[in-house]
Amino acid sequence: MQYFNNYALSDCNITVNTESTAPISSRYPVRVTKYYANLIRQEGDAIWKQCMPDVREIEDDDQLPDPFEESSLSPVSGLIHRYPDRVVLLVSNICPVYCRFCMRKRHVGSGDSPMGDTELDQALEYIAANTAIHDVLLSGGDPLMLDDSSLHHLLSGLRAINHVSIIRIGTRVPVTLPERITPQLCDLLKQFHPLYINTHFNHPDEITEDSSRACTLLADAGIPLGNQTVLLKGVNDDIGIMRKLMTGLLGIRVKPYYLHQMDLVRGTAHFRTSIEKGLEIVRGLRGHISGLAVPHYVIDLPGGKGKVAILPDDVERVGADVLLIRTYTGERVMYRDIKFPLA
Ligand SMILES: *Cc1c(COP(=O)(O)O)cnc(C)c1O
Ligand code: SF4
Repeated sequence: MQYFNNYALSDCNITVNTESTAPISSRYPVRVTKYYANLIRQEGDAIWKQCMPDVREIEDDDQLPDPFEESSLSPVSGLIHRYPDRVVLLVSNICPVYCRFCMRKRHVGSGDSPMGDTELDQALEYIAANTAIHDVLLSGGDPLMLDDSSLHHLLSGLRAINHVSIIRIGTRVPVTLPERITPQLCDLLKQFHPLYINTHFNHPDEITEDSSRACTLLADAGIPLGNQTVLLKGVNDDIGIMRKLMTGLLGIRVKPYYLHQMDLVRGTAHFRTSIEKGLEIVRGLRGHISGLAVPHYVIDLPGGKGKVAILPDDVERVGADVLLIRTYTGERVMYRDIKFPLA
Protein backbone atom coordinates (compact mmCIF):
# COMPACT_ATOMS: atom_id res chain seq x y z
CA MET A 1 0.00 0.00 0.00
CA GLN A 2 1.02 3.60 -0.50
CA TYR A 3 0.60 6.94 1.14
CA PHE A 4 -1.53 9.59 -0.45
CA ASN A 5 0.17 12.33 -2.37
CA ASN A 6 3.19 12.47 -0.14
CA TYR A 7 4.91 15.14 -2.15
CA ALA A 8 2.04 17.59 -1.95
CA LEU A 9 1.75 16.77 1.70
CA SER A 10 5.21 18.05 2.49
CA ASP A 11 3.96 21.22 0.88
CA CYS A 12 1.27 21.63 3.44
CA ASN A 13 3.63 21.24 6.38
CA ILE A 14 5.32 24.01 8.29
CA THR A 15 8.87 23.67 9.51
CA VAL A 16 9.20 23.54 13.26
CA ASN A 17 12.58 21.89 13.57
CA THR A 18 15.10 24.20 15.18
CA GLU A 19 18.31 23.62 17.06
CA SER A 20 16.52 23.70 20.39
CA THR A 21 13.85 21.21 19.38
CA ALA A 22 16.23 18.80 17.61
CA PRO A 23 16.84 16.59 20.70
CA ILE A 24 13.07 16.13 21.01
CA SER A 25 12.25 15.70 17.34
CA SER A 26 15.05 13.18 16.82
CA ARG A 27 13.28 10.92 19.31
CA TYR A 28 9.64 11.89 18.68
CA PRO A 29 9.09 13.27 15.20
CA VAL A 30 7.49 16.66 14.74
CA ARG A 31 5.08 17.42 11.93
CA VAL A 32 2.40 20.08 11.68
CA THR A 33 0.20 20.95 8.72
CA LYS A 34 -0.14 24.56 7.66
CA TYR A 35 -3.86 24.29 8.23
CA TYR A 36 -3.45 23.14 11.82
CA ALA A 37 -0.66 25.63 12.57
CA ASN A 38 -2.98 28.41 11.40
CA LEU A 39 -5.36 27.55 14.22
CA ILE A 40 -2.71 28.64 16.72
CA ARG A 41 -3.62 32.06 18.11
CA GLN A 42 -0.72 32.43 20.47
CA GLU A 43 2.24 30.52 21.74
CA GLY A 44 1.22 28.09 24.45
CA ASP A 45 -2.49 27.89 23.57
CA ALA A 46 -4.47 24.66 23.29
CA ILE A 47 -3.54 24.03 19.66
CA TRP A 48 0.11 24.89 20.23
CA LYS A 49 0.42 22.49 23.15
CA GLN A 50 -0.97 19.61 21.12
CA CYS A 51 1.48 19.89 18.25
CA MET A 52 4.64 21.72 19.32
CA PRO A 53 7.51 19.76 20.86
CA ASP A 54 8.12 20.22 24.58
CA VAL A 55 11.34 19.33 26.37
CA ARG A 56 9.32 17.50 29.04
CA GLU A 57 8.72 14.75 26.47
CA ILE A 58 12.32 13.60 26.68
CA GLU A 59 12.56 14.17 30.44
CA ASP A 60 9.76 11.69 31.13
CA ASP A 61 11.39 8.30 31.41
CA ASP A 62 9.22 6.70 34.10
CA GLN A 63 6.56 5.24 31.85
CA LEU A 64 6.81 2.40 29.41
CA PRO A 65 6.73 3.07 25.67
CA ASP A 66 4.07 0.35 25.21
CA PRO A 67 2.16 -0.06 28.50
CA PHE A 68 -0.69 -1.87 26.74
CA GLU A 69 1.61 -4.66 25.60
CA GLU A 70 0.14 -4.24 22.17
CA SER A 71 3.20 -5.95 20.75
CA SER A 72 2.42 -9.11 22.74
CA LEU A 73 -1.22 -9.06 21.64
CA SER A 74 -0.08 -9.12 18.06
CA PRO A 75 -0.42 -12.59 16.51
CA VAL A 76 0.66 -11.24 13.14
CA SER A 77 2.56 -8.07 12.40
CA GLY A 78 0.40 -4.91 12.42
CA LEU A 79 -2.65 -6.57 14.00
CA ILE A 80 -3.73 -6.25 17.65
CA HIS A 81 -6.18 -8.83 18.94
CA ARG A 82 -7.19 -7.96 22.49
CA TYR A 83 -10.95 -8.55 22.56
CA PRO A 84 -12.62 -11.71 21.23
CA ASP A 85 -14.74 -10.09 18.50
CA ARG A 86 -12.65 -7.22 17.19
CA VAL A 87 -9.14 -6.39 16.07
CA VAL A 88 -7.09 -3.31 15.34
CA LEU A 89 -5.05 -3.07 12.15
CA LEU A 90 -2.13 -0.64 12.17
CA VAL A 91 -2.15 0.21 8.51
CA SER A 92 -0.19 3.44 8.57
CA ASN A 93 2.55 4.89 10.71
CA ILE A 94 2.30 8.50 9.66
CA CYS A 95 -0.15 11.30 10.53
CA PRO A 96 -0.59 14.84 9.22
CA VAL A 97 0.26 16.18 12.68
CA TYR A 98 2.19 14.31 15.35
CA CYS A 99 0.21 14.89 18.52
CA ARG A 100 2.61 15.25 21.40
CA PHE A 101 0.38 13.10 23.66
CA CYS A 102 0.00 10.19 21.22
CA MET A 103 -0.44 6.75 22.84
CA ARG A 104 1.48 5.18 19.95
CA LYS A 105 4.35 7.62 20.28
CA ARG A 106 6.73 4.67 19.92
CA HIS A 107 5.24 3.80 16.55
CA VAL A 108 4.11 6.91 14.68
CA GLY A 109 6.57 8.56 12.38
CA SER A 110 8.84 5.55 12.75
CA GLY A 111 9.09 4.64 9.10
CA ASP A 112 8.34 5.74 5.60
CA SER A 113 6.08 2.97 4.45
CA PRO A 114 2.63 1.80 5.46
CA MET A 115 1.65 -1.79 6.11
CA GLY A 116 3.21 -3.83 3.31
CA ASP A 117 1.34 -6.18 1.00
CA THR A 118 2.69 -9.33 2.64
CA GLU A 119 1.76 -8.04 6.08
CA LEU A 120 -1.68 -7.10 4.83
CA ASP A 121 -2.21 -10.54 3.31
CA GLN A 122 -1.18 -12.19 6.58
CA ALA A 123 -3.52 -9.95 8.56
CA LEU A 124 -6.41 -10.69 6.20
CA GLU A 125 -5.69 -14.42 6.44
CA TYR A 126 -5.70 -14.21 10.23
CA ILE A 127 -9.05 -12.40 10.26
CA ALA A 128 -10.50 -14.80 7.69
CA ALA A 129 -9.45 -17.77 9.83
CA ASN A 130 -11.01 -16.33 13.01
CA THR A 131 -14.76 -16.32 12.52
CA ALA A 132 -15.28 -14.65 15.91
CA ILE A 133 -13.92 -11.37 14.51
CA HIS A 134 -16.83 -9.14 13.48
CA ASP A 135 -15.36 -5.70 13.79
CA VAL A 136 -12.10 -4.43 12.30
CA LEU A 137 -10.66 -1.08 13.35
CA LEU A 138 -8.21 0.60 11.05
CA SER A 139 -5.72 2.69 12.94
CA GLY A 140 -2.06 3.60 12.90
CA GLY A 141 -0.89 6.26 12.48
CA ASP A 142 -3.68 7.62 10.38
CA PRO A 143 -5.34 5.27 7.86
CA LEU A 144 -6.54 8.19 5.73
CA MET A 145 -2.92 8.95 4.93
CA LEU A 146 -3.13 6.00 2.55
CA ASP A 147 -3.95 6.88 -1.02
CA ASP A 148 -7.38 6.13 -2.40
CA SER A 149 -6.36 3.04 -4.31
CA SER A 150 -4.62 1.51 -1.28
CA LEU A 151 -7.73 2.21 0.80
CA HIS A 152 -9.86 0.57 -1.85
CA HIS A 153 -7.60 -2.48 -1.87
CA LEU A 154 -7.62 -2.72 1.92
CA LEU A 155 -11.37 -2.24 2.33
CA SER A 156 -12.16 -4.69 -0.48
CA GLY A 157 -9.97 -7.28 1.22
CA LEU A 158 -11.87 -6.86 4.47
CA ARG A 159 -15.30 -6.86 2.82
CA ALA A 160 -14.43 -10.13 1.10
CA ILE A 161 -14.48 -11.76 4.54
CA ASN A 162 -18.09 -12.67 5.32
CA HIS A 163 -17.91 -12.57 9.10
CA VAL A 164 -16.50 -9.04 9.19
CA SER A 165 -19.65 -7.01 9.63
CA ILE A 166 -18.31 -3.68 10.77
CA ILE A 167 -15.32 -1.68 9.61
CA ARG A 168 -14.17 1.30 11.63
CA ILE A 169 -11.60 3.92 10.75
CA GLY A 170 -9.91 5.97 13.45
CA THR A 171 -8.63 9.20 11.93
CA ARG A 172 -7.63 12.70 12.91
CA VAL A 173 -7.52 13.85 9.30
CA PRO A 174 -10.79 15.86 9.51
CA VAL A 175 -9.15 17.86 12.32
CA THR A 176 -5.61 18.25 11.05
CA LEU A 177 -5.78 17.95 7.24
CA PRO A 178 -9.44 18.47 6.31
CA GLU A 179 -8.69 18.97 2.60
CA ARG A 180 -7.87 15.25 2.43
CA ILE A 181 -11.61 14.55 2.84
CA THR A 182 -12.66 14.87 -0.78
CA PRO A 183 -15.90 13.89 -2.52
CA GLN A 184 -13.89 11.15 -4.29
CA LEU A 185 -12.71 9.72 -0.99
CA CYS A 186 -16.28 9.75 0.34
CA ASP A 187 -17.56 7.99 -2.80
CA LEU A 188 -14.95 5.32 -2.22
CA LEU A 189 -15.67 4.86 1.49
CA LYS A 190 -19.41 4.59 1.09
CA GLN A 191 -19.04 1.44 -1.00
CA PHE A 192 -17.96 -0.41 2.12
CA HIS A 193 -20.84 0.16 4.54
CA PRO A 194 -21.42 -0.44 7.40
CA LEU A 195 -18.35 1.73 7.83
CA TYR A 196 -17.93 3.93 10.87
CA ILE A 197 -15.44 6.72 11.40
CA ASN A 198 -14.18 7.85 14.76
CA THR A 199 -12.41 11.14 14.58
CA HIS A 200 -10.44 12.95 17.23
CA PHE A 201 -11.30 16.53 18.24
CA ASN A 202 -9.84 17.75 21.53
CA HIS A 203 -10.72 21.41 21.62
CA PRO A 204 -13.56 23.67 20.36
CA ASP A 205 -11.01 25.74 18.39
CA GLU A 206 -10.60 22.67 16.14
CA ILE A 207 -14.23 22.99 15.02
CA THR A 208 -13.76 25.28 12.03
CA GLU A 209 -15.41 25.84 8.68
CA ASP A 210 -12.96 23.39 7.11
CA SER A 211 -13.26 20.61 9.67
CA SER A 212 -17.06 21.01 9.63
CA ARG A 213 -17.07 20.69 5.85
CA ALA A 214 -14.97 17.52 6.09
CA CYS A 215 -17.38 16.00 8.61
CA THR A 216 -20.40 17.02 6.53
CA LEU A 217 -18.98 15.29 3.46
CA LEU A 218 -18.42 12.09 5.44
CA ALA A 219 -21.82 12.23 7.14
CA ASP A 220 -23.51 12.86 3.78
CA ALA A 221 -21.83 9.67 2.55
CA GLY A 222 -23.84 7.87 5.23
CA ILE A 223 -20.89 7.33 7.53
CA PRO A 224 -21.81 7.53 11.22
CA LEU A 225 -19.25 9.77 12.89
CA GLY A 226 -18.01 9.37 16.45
CA ASN A 227 -15.35 11.24 18.32
CA GLN A 228 -12.61 10.27 20.74
CA THR A 229 -11.22 13.05 22.90
CA VAL A 230 -8.15 12.73 25.08
CA LEU A 231 -8.34 14.53 28.41
CA LEU A 232 -5.29 16.80 28.33
CA LYS A 233 -3.93 18.99 31.09
CA GLY A 234 -3.83 22.63 30.05
CA VAL A 235 -5.73 21.89 26.82
CA ASN A 236 -9.23 20.72 27.69
CA ASP A 237 -9.32 19.82 31.41
CA ASP A 238 -12.05 22.35 31.98
CA ILE A 239 -15.82 21.91 32.16
CA GLY A 240 -16.61 24.98 30.06
CA ILE A 241 -14.26 23.91 27.28
CA MET A 242 -15.58 20.35 27.34
CA ARG A 243 -19.22 21.45 27.15
CA LYS A 244 -18.42 23.68 24.21
CA LEU A 245 -16.48 20.92 22.48
CA MET A 246 -19.06 18.17 22.98
CA THR A 247 -22.08 20.25 21.99
CA GLY A 248 -20.10 21.76 19.10
CA LEU A 249 -19.42 18.26 17.81
CA LEU A 250 -23.11 17.36 17.83
CA GLY A 251 -23.64 20.50 15.79
CA ILE A 252 -21.40 19.09 13.04
CA ARG A 253 -23.07 15.64 13.25
CA VAL A 254 -20.31 13.99 15.22
CA LYS A 255 -21.39 11.94 18.25
CA PRO A 256 -18.97 12.06 21.21
CA TYR A 257 -17.95 8.44 21.89
CA TYR A 258 -15.02 8.26 24.30
CA LEU A 259 -13.27 10.67 26.61
CA HIS A 260 -9.91 9.01 27.23
CA GLN A 261 -7.96 9.27 30.41
CA MET A 262 -4.39 10.11 29.31
CA ASP A 263 -2.48 6.87 28.92
CA LEU A 264 0.64 6.04 30.89
CA VAL A 265 2.83 6.29 27.82
CA ARG A 266 6.44 7.44 28.01
CA GLY A 267 6.99 11.02 26.92
CA THR A 268 3.49 12.27 27.75
CA ALA A 269 3.42 12.70 31.55
CA HIS A 270 3.00 16.48 31.39
CA PHE A 271 -0.45 16.04 29.81
CA ARG A 272 -1.84 13.76 32.50
CA THR A 273 -4.67 14.83 34.82
CA SER A 274 -6.03 12.97 37.83
CA ILE A 275 -8.98 10.60 37.52
CA GLU A 276 -10.81 12.94 39.91
CA LYS A 277 -10.52 15.69 37.28
CA GLY A 278 -12.03 13.39 34.65
CA LEU A 279 -14.90 12.43 36.93
CA GLU A 280 -15.53 16.09 37.71
CA ILE A 281 -15.78 16.76 33.98
CA VAL A 282 -18.20 13.87 33.46
CA ARG A 283 -20.32 15.30 36.31
CA GLY A 284 -20.21 18.67 34.61
CA LEU A 285 -21.54 17.17 31.38
CA ARG A 286 -24.15 14.57 32.35
CA GLY A 287 -27.54 16.24 32.82
CA HIS A 288 -26.22 19.69 32.00
CA ILE A 289 -26.01 19.21 28.25
CA SER A 290 -27.75 16.90 25.78
CA GLY A 291 -27.24 13.25 26.69
CA LEU A 292 -26.17 12.71 23.08
CA ALA A 293 -23.17 14.93 23.74
CA VAL A 294 -21.87 12.95 26.72
CA PRO A 295 -19.03 10.52 25.94
CA HIS A 296 -18.01 7.50 28.02
CA TYR A 297 -15.02 8.33 30.18
CA VAL A 298 -12.61 5.41 29.74
CA ILE A 299 -9.28 4.28 31.10
CA ASP A 300 -7.22 1.91 29.02
CA LEU A 301 -5.65 -0.31 31.66
CA PRO A 302 -1.96 -1.13 31.38
CA GLY A 303 -0.96 -4.68 30.60
CA GLY A 304 -3.46 -5.02 27.77
CA LYS A 305 -6.38 -5.47 30.17
CA GLY A 306 -8.65 -3.33 28.05
CA LYS A 307 -10.75 -0.19 28.37
CA VAL A 308 -12.97 0.34 31.38
CA ALA A 309 -15.68 3.02 31.51
CA ILE A 310 -15.76 4.81 34.82
CA LEU A 311 -18.55 6.88 36.32
CA PRO A 312 -18.85 9.20 39.30
CA ASP A 313 -20.08 7.24 42.30
CA ASP A 314 -23.68 8.46 42.55
CA VAL A 315 -25.46 5.47 44.05
CA GLU A 316 -25.39 4.70 47.75
CA ARG A 317 -27.28 1.76 49.30
CA VAL A 318 -28.76 2.86 52.62
CA GLY A 319 -31.06 -0.09 53.33
CA ALA A 320 -31.93 -3.58 52.07
CA ASP A 321 -34.15 -2.05 49.41
CA VAL A 322 -33.34 1.64 49.57
CA LEU A 323 -30.85 3.60 47.51
CA LEU A 324 -29.85 7.22 47.68
CA ILE A 325 -29.08 8.50 44.22
CA ARG A 326 -27.45 11.82 43.45
CA THR A 327 -28.93 13.91 40.63
CA TYR A 328 -26.98 16.12 38.26
CA THR A 329 -27.70 19.12 40.47
CA GLY A 330 -26.28 17.34 43.52
CA GLU A 331 -29.60 16.60 45.19
CA ARG A 332 -29.83 13.16 46.81
CA VAL A 333 -33.05 11.33 46.02
CA MET A 334 -34.37 8.17 47.66
CA TYR A 335 -35.13 5.31 45.30
CA ARG A 336 -36.82 2.05 46.25
CA ASP A 337 -35.11 -1.00 44.77
CA ILE A 338 -36.05 -4.66 44.72
CA LYS A 339 -35.05 -6.14 48.07
CA PHE A 340 -31.41 -7.20 48.05
CA PRO A 341 -30.40 -9.94 48.41
CA LEU A 342 -33.51 -11.44 46.86
CA ALA A 343 -35.33 -13.76 49.29
C1 LIG B 1 -9.94 0.43 21.86
C2 LIG B 1 -9.64 -0.85 21.29
C3 LIG B 1 -10.62 -1.58 20.61
C4 LIG B 1 -12.03 -1.06 20.40
O1 LIG B 1 -12.70 -0.91 21.58
P1 LIG B 1 -14.21 -0.40 21.58
O2 LIG B 1 -14.50 -0.23 23.03
O3 LIG B 1 -15.03 -1.45 20.92
O4 LIG B 1 -14.27 0.88 20.82
C5 LIG B 1 -10.28 -2.81 20.10
N1 LIG B 1 -9.04 -3.32 20.25
C6 LIG B 1 -8.07 -2.64 20.91
C7 LIG B 1 -6.72 -3.24 21.03
C8 LIG B 1 -8.34 -1.38 21.44
O5 LIG B 1 -7.37 -0.70 22.06
S1 SF4 C 1 -3.37 11.55 14.89
FE1 SF4 C 1 -3.66 9.89 16.39
S2 SF4 C 1 -2.10 8.37 15.87
FE2 SF4 C 1 -1.52 10.29 14.88
S3 SF4 C 1 -0.13 11.31 16.29
FE3 SF4 C 1 -2.19 12.10 16.70
S4 SF4 C 1 -2.99 10.76 18.34
FE4 SF4 C 1 -1.20 9.72 17.42
